[in-house]
Amino acid sequence: MRIGAGTVYLVGAGPGAPDLITVKGMRLLLGADVILYDRLVSPELLQECSEHTELISVGKTPGKSSIAQEEINRILIDRALQGKSVVRLKGGDPFVFGRGGEEQESCRRAGIQCVVVPGVSSALAAPASVGIPLTYRGKSRHFVVVTAHSNGTGDSLDYQALASIDTIVILMGRSKLREICKSLIRAGKDPETPAACVEWATTEEQKVAVGSLRSIAGRADRIQLCPPVVTVIGEVAALAMASSTVENEYWQIVNRLSREIPSWQS
Ligand code: SAH
Repeated sequence: MRIGAGTVYLVGAGPGAPDLITVKGMRLLLGADVILYDRLVSPELLQECSEHTELISVGKTPGKSSIAQEEINRILIDRALQGKSVVRLKGGDPFVFGRGGEEQESCRRAGIQCVVVPGVSSALAAPASVGIPLTYRGKSRHFVVVTAHSNGTGDSLDYQALASIDTIVILMGRSKLREICKSLIRAGKDPETPAACVEWATTEEQKVAVGSLRSIAGRADRIQLCPPVVTVIGEVAALAMASSTVENEYWQIVNRLSREIPSWQS
């Protein structure tokens, strides 16, 4: 695939499994001069790249100092001005809690062409990977995707408004899970509303906890769920597989098998 010199491509890598990137995204990776990638991007995707491709890790690890957003913007612009084709590879979809909007704006300000290649967001893939449909006739007419992480903006969630939505999907909420559940109950959400947490969805490390709004935080603690985790709250979460070790092993096998489907390249 011929890809544009001096162009920045904001590419969604998909939720975790390397074969959940789009065909377009993969083609761009294979043709890029430079790739700036996040922490949640599968290392297997990068192994496919040419040895001539410059790989730059700009991963942000929660709680640790990391490369500043301004520095990422600067590298993108710098390499594009050198006439290189630049892929900014982001976990899931670049425009879902990925600061892709800011990167697009800074490219535009610098007069650099920026092309967005959507990806499969973990907000959709994590529920799907454990059998939770986000919409379901009679059970879920709408869903909302939120983060509890204010990223320094000081914004907090409107729990009254959230409580009225059939299905709530929470990203970056693992450390605040207990607090979020309590706030939803306080805002009038039924404590028995089904809930599920999925760690490392679509990968071999996938783990699931299921319960209710009242019990899910305790269950997630018990099986030591750690970020990255997507939480789903709503009637549809009752359709998730249960959280026993056996079932977690079951999901690992399902994921391994799905990765053995012949790759799109062959
Ligand atoms: N742009 C990404 C989201 C980035 S924010 C997307 O569209 O998926 C990072 C958060 O995404 C994590 O804290 C977690 O809540 C969620 N996440 C990303 N990948 C995940 C995965 N494989 N399993 C579970 N959660 C994941």
